[in-house]
Amino acid sequence: MILPSPQNNSTHAEVILNLKADLCLTYTVPEELIRRLRVGHMVLVPLGSRRVNGFVTLFPAPPPRRPGRSIIRLLDPEPFFGDNLISLVRWISQYYFCSFSRAFKTALPSPIRNTSNPSPVLHVALNISVEESGEEIEKLAGKAPRQADILKVLQGRTGTSPLAAVLKESGASRSSLTALEKKGLVVISQEDRYTSGRPGEEILPTGPLVLNDEQKVAFKEIVDAIDNEEFRVFLLHGITGSGKTEIYLQAVARVLERGEGAIIMVPEISLTPQTGERFRSRFGDQVVVIHSAQAAGERYSAWRRLADGRARIVLGPRSAVFAPVKNLGLIVVDEEHETSYKQSAIHPFYHGRDVAVMRGKLENCPVILGSATPSVESYNNQREGKYSLLTLSHRPDEAELPKVRIIDMRLEREKFRGGSSFSSILLREMKLNLEEGRQTILFLNRRGFFTVLVCRECGYVARCPHCSVSLTYHKGKRLQICHLCGYTAAPDRSCPLCKSKDITFSGRGTQRIEEQIKKIFPQARVRRMDTDSVGARDSHRIILDEFKAGRIDILVGTQMIAKGLDFPNVTLVGVIMADTALSLADFRATEYTFQILSQVGGRAGRGELKGTVIIQTNSPRHPALLSAVRHDYAAFFDQEIALRAELGYPPLNHFISLTVLSRNEDKSLRICEHLARLLRPVMAPEDEIMGPAPPPINRIRGRYRWQLLLKTHGVVSTLRALGQVLPGLGKDRDVKIEVDVDPISML
Ligand code: ADP
Ligand code: ZN
Ligand code: ZN
Repeated sequence: MILPSPQNNSTHAEVILNLKADLCLTYTVPEELIRRLRVGHMVLVPLGSRRVNGFVTLFPAPPPRRPGRSIIRLLDPEPFFGDNLISLVRWISQYYFCSFSRAFKTALPSPIRNTSNPSPVLHVALNISVEESGEEIEKLAGKAPRQADILKVLQGRTGTSPLAAVLKESGASRSSLTALEKKGLVVISQEDRYTSGRPGEEILPTGPLVLNDEQKVAFKEIVDAIDNEEFRVFLLHGITGSGKTEIYLQAVARVLERGEGAIIMVPEISLTPQTGERFRSRFGDQVVVIHSAQAAGERYSAWRRLADGRARIVLGPRSAVFAPVKNLGLIVVDEEHETSYKQSAIHPFYHGRDVAVMRGKLENCPVILGSATPSVESYNNQREGKYSLLTLSHRPDEAELPKVRIIDMRLEREKFRGGSSFSSILLREMKLNLEEGRQTILFLNRRGFFTVLVCRECGYVARCPHCSVSLTYHKGKRLQICHLCGYTAAPDRSCPLCKSKDITFSGRGTQRIEEQIKKIFPQARVRRMDTDSVGARDSHRIILDEFKAGRIDILVGTQMIAKGLDFPNVTLVGVIMADTALSLADFRATEYTFQILSQVGGRAGRGELKGTVIIQTNSPRHPALLSAVRHDYAAFFDQEIALRAELGYPPLNHFISLTVLSRNEDKSLRICEHLARLLRPVMAPEDEIMGPAPPPINRIRGRYRWQLLLKTHGVVSTLRALGQVLPGLGKDRDVKIEVDVDPISML
């Protein structure tokens, strides 16, 4: 970097412009701003004949070659971020191979960039309980249907919601809402309460619990690092229910005492409402909760409150890692192994956990990575001494770990010769559980994984014409749907190949499981929870509330029910088929299977009652399955790391996947080969280039994909080499190259 010459050192600032295009320009700083201007300030600047807003990213900045134009004025008195965030953004652009602007836009999402001095957003919330609102809806339905519609929308939301959004969703007018307000059924206010509760159900304040011995040891180490403002990464390995969250809470309390703030990252907020409640009940309004479904105004005020120090704790998914918390004193990444921390839909494909570690390093504060089943990467870092291991090995409530049984489904099928998804043992246990008034969770690895329409004569299965995957059948919609691109097709009535009319469902999607259960246990109250059945925001929460209240006997679902939930009355968990993850074309399949089975097992028997887990599988002797059953993480890790070492897979090396996309399959392959030839001589000799290969899903949205996989020890130097050779490929609008560093999915 060029250092500014002394005579110019306070008169220029680099500003990133808030435009679609990636543009960073240097402007002159007017006299009156020189003392006030700081990195992170939102400013108004001229561009051509327009005025646009932007953020100061470097001040003082080296003077431009040609004399620049001048900043017009400040748009916000307080900066939105500081130097540390800019350093973090620079690191992201370097490590994840994207432009500075792209990385910046990721850190400061558009609702924040595009709002300046917003007028106060009005919020609305139910002023009665959900049950009471049900009665009111019935009363209103005849006379004032619009008012009933508003209540219905509010029923499905937690906390306060922006007024405009509620009117839009309900289709009602402002006067209907005012009428409800007059009746005292709703409250309208400027207050944006990021509560996970409703006004009617106040969250009761709670205090710290007395830590047990293991918790004390872990807590002391963390507090020391907090007090010393020391960057250290703790891997808090504790089985489900062992009291990790209690440690986070007490560590955050310590941070607040010191006048600092904290970032708490959770995989998906709607799936972990209980975590939100626990933070709210301990820290009240100091907590802001962010989530992906938040309206722009809400996100803006959350960020603003943090930047001003009015709120000190942020709880949210991966984007929370960028929150402008003042005096950051602690970062917690709960369930650090979760793949949802990796951004995979849009560039940069950053990993929230790894960015959190980097942010902790830049801010000099400790980072806690918590998990019952740490990622192989993090555990390996601990083994290598980069992270400090803290272990919680038992549950404070002394609840016993559930009893786990593995059922060999190959034998079951021989016994019954037929299509049942359930072993006789699982059915027997379910029946017992129902009779005793206890709850059951049935867990299926992937939504719609097996639900396809298949011709019984010739085995034909419909595939997506744009992607190389089979279409899954969704009975509710009566459609076949592609899970990758959303292509839909009417179900085949007869087989396009052999013309047979014997087309039927194959498989055991969650819907199918639900139907089978309803047939077998007609008296049971069965609900399904997967991404199909949970459309609207917060409907997870409603299903979970019902389940908690005991109004559901059997809950059928995908991964999402395997997460941090706490249901004391669940005493049986059935895993319908444990092999699905093992058979995916991904080197992490075993790791995922181990994680899922361990987490699912943790669901049973969290209360007084002892739990049972039944795992149905076709591969009962698989080592990952056996270690999960024994709750033996170390055994799993040792086996897995040996395997990875043999193949040179991560975490012993890094992968960088380069995907070439083109509408022309030949071209994407040719360019991939060309790229490999260019790269070889500039990469380190011990690094490897694998491919070109078509990924298992080799066509998405009409574009063909060919892939190179780089296996490297040094990500940054390899990316530098890549940057050198890319221009040599020439320009072609039809060709796109995606760079994914440390990819999570190999599909
Ligand atoms: P985890 O986050 O590891 O799943 P939690 O922190 O949620 O574990 O703790 C599980 C349960 O045990 C919670 O109900 C929590 O209130 C309780 N708990 C945690 N620590 C203690 C303690 N020291 N004494 C008593 N109960 C505790
Ligand atoms: Zn056929
Ligand atoms: Zn498709």
